[in-house]
Amino acid sequence: MSAPVAQPLVFHPGRSRGDLAARLSRAVEGDVLFDAAARGRYATDASIYQIDPVGVLVPKSADDVRTAIAICREHEVPVLPRGAGSSQCGQTVGAALVIDHSKHLSRIGAFDRAAMTVDVEPGVVLDQLNAFLKPHGLWFPVDVSTSAQATLGGMAGNNSCGSRSIAYGNMVHNVLAIDAILSDGTEARFGPEREMDGAPRRVGELLRGLRAIGAREHEEIERNVPKVLRRVGGYNIDVCCAQSERPYTADGSVNFAHLLVGSEGTLAWTRELTLKLAPVPAHRALGVVNFPTLRKAMECARHLVGLGPSAVELVDRTMIGLARDNPAFRPVVDRALIGEPDAILLVEFIGETRDGPIGRLRDLVALMGDLGLPGSVVEMTDTGAQKALWEMRKAGLNIMMSLKGDGKPVSFIEDCAVPLEHLAEYVDRLTQVFDKHGTRGTWYAHASVGTLHVRPILDMRRDGAAKMRAIAEEASAMVREYKGAFSGEHGDGLVRSEWVGWQFGPRLSRAFEEIKDLFDPAGLMNPGKIVRGTRMDDASLFRFPPGHRTQALATALDWSAWNVQSDPVDGTLTPPGTGGDPAGGFAKAVEMCNNNGHCRKFDAGTMCPSYRVTRDEEHLTRGRANTLRLALSGRLGANALASESVRAALELCVSCKGCRRECPTGVDMAKMKIEALYQRRRTHGLPFRDRLIAHLPRWAPWAARVPWLANLRNTLPGAAKLSEVWLGLSARRSLPAWRRDTFLRDAAVSRDDAASASADVVLFADTFTNYFEPENAHAALAVLGAAGHRVHVARAVEADAEPSRPLCCGRTYLAAGLVDEAKSEARRVVAALLPHVERGAAIIGLEPSCLLSLRDEFLVMGLGDAAQRLSDNAFLIEEFLAREHRAGRLALPLAALPQKRALLHAHCHQKAFDAVTATQTVLGFIPGLAVELIETSCCGMAGSFGYDAAHYDVSVKMAELALLPAVRAAAPDTLIVADGTSCRHQIADLTRVDGNREAVHAIRVLESALAGAH
Ligand SMILES: Cc1cc2nc3c(=O)[nH]c(=O)nc-3n(C[C@H](O)[C@H](O)[C@H](O)COP(=O)(O)OP(=O)(O)OC[C@H]3O[C@@H](n4cnc5c(N)ncnc54)[C@H](O)[C@@H]3O)c2cc1C
Ligand code: SF4
Ligand code: SF4
Repeated sequence: MSAPVAQPLVFHPGRSRGDLAARLSRAVEGDVLFDAAARGRYATDASIYQIDPVGVLVPKSADDVRTAIAICREHEVPVLPRGAGSSQCGQTVGAALVIDHSKHLSRIGAFDRAAMTVDVEPGVVLDQLNAFLKPHGLWFPVDVSTSAQATLGGMAGNNSCGSRSIAYGNMVHNVLAIDAILSDGTEARFGPEREMDGAPRRVGELLRGLRAIGAREHEEIERNVPKVLRRVGGYNIDVCCAQSERPYTADGSVNFAHLLVGSEGTLAWTRELTLKLAPVPAHRALGVVNFPTLRKAMECARHLVGLGPSAVELVDRTMIGLARDNPAFRPVVDRALIGEPDAILLVEFIGETRDGPIGRLRDLVALMGDLGLPGSVVEMTDTGAQKALWEMRKAGLNIMMSLKGDGKPVSFIEDCAVPLEHLAEYVDRLTQVFDKHGTRGTWYAHASVGTLHVRPILDMRRDGAAKMRAIAEEASAMVREYKGAFSGEHGDGLVRSEWVGWQFGPRLSRAFEEIKDLFDPAGLMNPGKIVRGTRMDDASLFRFPPGHRTQALATALDWSAWNVQSDPVDGTLTPPGTGGDPAGGFAKAVEMCNNNGHCRKFDAGTMCPSYRVTRDEEHLTRGRANTLRLALSGRLGANALASESVRAALELCVSCKGCRRECPTGVDMAKMKIEALYQRRRTHGLPFRDRLIAHLPRWAPWAARVPWLANLRNTLPGAAKLSEVWLGLSARRSLPAWRRDTFLRDAAVSRDDAASASADVVLFADTFTNYFEPENAHAALAVLGAAGHRVHVARAVEADAEPSRPLCCGRTYLAAGLVDEAKSEARRVVAALLPHVERGAAIIGLEPSCLLSLRDEFLVMGLGDAAQRLSDNAFLIEEFLAREHRAGRLALPLAALPQKRALLHAHCHQKAFDAVTATQTVLGFIPGLAVELIETSCCGMAGSFGYDAAHYDVSVKMAELALLPAVRAAAPDTLIVADGTSCRHQIADLTRVDGNREAVHAIRVLESALAGAH
């Protein structure tokens, strides 16, 4: 074989970046992104590495990719295909033109129900495909934990494996064909050998070369390719003589697509995949086996596998504890536990009849008795409970990653696969290795196939690299001893390519290089991965390389809770403010993003509405966190927080706080946006329009005196257009209407300070409720009164500089980054409310974004312990009523309404603070009312966001994702309930032409149900 030997291409910045960008821009339809911030956003994946790409192409079509590869060939610039970028080993970082197919190349093509096959473009996400297949009773069964974001192209690139691989195999077992483009422009469909006779001449030669390598290395392959199912390192050189315990094809025939599977973008660009589908199992049963020790669990794993389960998944004590700390997971885990187990194994059985899985569940119970653990199995036959437990297991890694400080769980031996008979010993020995190096690991995942996930906690900015090397050496020696695979799930990338030679031996390593050179003689495709790799501990390629510095910053908010370090062994945190962050903890909060890409999910929860609409990395929580990290580390130039790059990345963030709750590591972009805006204002000041909106609480009293004048914008012909030209407020929007009958000016609202001392409830009437919807506050008084509460309406204290001005939480100031002004509003609120808190009264609010700022932003404004005490006693009205109900104290006389159904859209901040159930609960008190929660993300209005002419289209698209279709589909007599003032406005505004739906606050629904109210 005399194939030319490729050298990894090194791109010399400045040589042709500008030319390349210009040529690409002229030649392709897609986005060509070459600015520093965009490149920085593509410089990382879910690994520890970071390499600046040459540039990024987001192609509109496969034609764009063809063109780009041709241009890169001429420019001698490498090409790096990318999906969601959720690889853990650095597969998708490199000095190359990154081609991100996840935005546009996501079409599901030919589907053959009878043959159970489907063609997909590489950007189709697994959950998207399975949602398409569900009505047909089929699914694609490689169920990776990242199913909500992983693309099929990336899954094939990594030879990904799911929890149920013991039943269905890995990607290599489920890909039937790949239509590929080679770096020289040749295109071919790689599939079963017998179907490749008509392939282009170049491909014919390539296949001859492959067969020759296979024949020549037959013995070496048999000797050195691990026989375990979970082996994803190197190339699938055993394509002609599969070594896996599960043959690649049912009939043992050769399929050349399987060589491309797991090739990590180093051989060809996948244009389309043909996938083998499976019927969705009709019935499932889950047995959760509780073990007194992890070792016992590992010893039993191989016996459990003998029962023929579809999955056996481990969750260890640390992860059980972390899951129980999470309010969402606690009840789920508790249902699965018997006492305080050291580990649990989730053993799943599937079958076409109900009796099949149930029978095997009984076998499991009997087997555990035989193995000396009678009564150790929690039997779960209810699909809801099973699903919830699987979600907890899928979130495993993410739960672990929420560790604060510079020490993080690092992925480099996290997917070693060892034969089951050695599993217990392997876990014991590796735990001792961790002890020796002063760290610890949490064990979980695929016990069925001997692939246990474990990540030791290392500080990659300090001694992490050396420890990583030492631990890898010892782990690899064990893997060799047990004849396992060093890479059993996550592939090679940058962290493990240097281990390919170690695993497969020098002969097969050379054969891998030959394969690479046959496909890609110029070495254009993702160089440095699988063959000719760099050292895993080359710190110059780390996301936090030696010399990484954070720029000093005087922050407006208090970020000290993030400015800590954690003990790698017991996880103890140092006191707030001691973490050594010159940005006061802001940088460390930003660095909590580990790039796992969970924010790319699109079909459940809230996070991240702007990404769901744009599908741009820039408008994704991860993209924003990376932009801020780059800015704070000086990689985007001086004073970069004030830069256009940062502004643009944050522009479409609607501050919904979806990430605060749903990002597994708690990246709270809404709060970060406040800080970034504050820093920006210091350089650029505030445009008039933003200033006007921010200061609304100050001029609102004047506007309310002359509402006819203030409302001219809505009523006078041409005024809306003028407001768009002058202020950028969309002419297509109505603005909230000013009222003369504001709540606090109403004579009926008592000012009796003496009575206030005996009130058990204090109502905080926020700016929006007071000026625009006073009826909501009146409804609150009526409902609380009917429930027997004595209510005091909060007002500023006498000593306040503006005692007659209503209290305000400062939300409009925060949205503009005017933190000092927001703090001064917060101080007024604390001064007014704290005395009531101290005498035991509950503080109640109606508008989620206002009341919940008392529980959120107030805590990072330097207001001391007073803010915490206020926060602990501040409730949305439904939370308060639900609490009273739980305590057996609520006696609310409610009668049935004429309407029998209520459709509830929860405000994003309600969701972020887990306050939605309370609303469902209290609406459920109304006799005969069926309450249905709409699965929505942000409504798109988000404070003043949707009023901005520049945001109008995005705002409408957000509403159209789920909210508006659900509202339109609702029968006319269905109540639409939304607690957010902007949500209600959005619904009214956008249904004006096709239905005129009005949404109401939940408290109004309760008010109308008060006995005798109708
Ligand atoms: C929290 C977490 C949990 C995970 N759980 C699992 C798990 O359960 N099982 C598992 O196997 N993995 C898991 N992974 C790893 C990763 O999510 C999977 O490998 C996933 O399939 C990668 O998909 P992606 O779209 O992100 O691909 P990317 O990371 O974007 O790409 C993966 C590889 O495929 C190549 N590639 C992408 N598109 C193409 C194309 N069109 N042509 C040629 N090559 C291409 C890339 O160059 C790269 O080498 C996990 C990762 C994280 C962060
Ligand atoms: S923002 Fe959160 S969810 Fe998104 S990639 Fe970062 S850590 Fe993951
Ligand atoms: S606050 Fe909302 S819009 Fe902003 S990044 Fe988080 S999820 Fe996305």
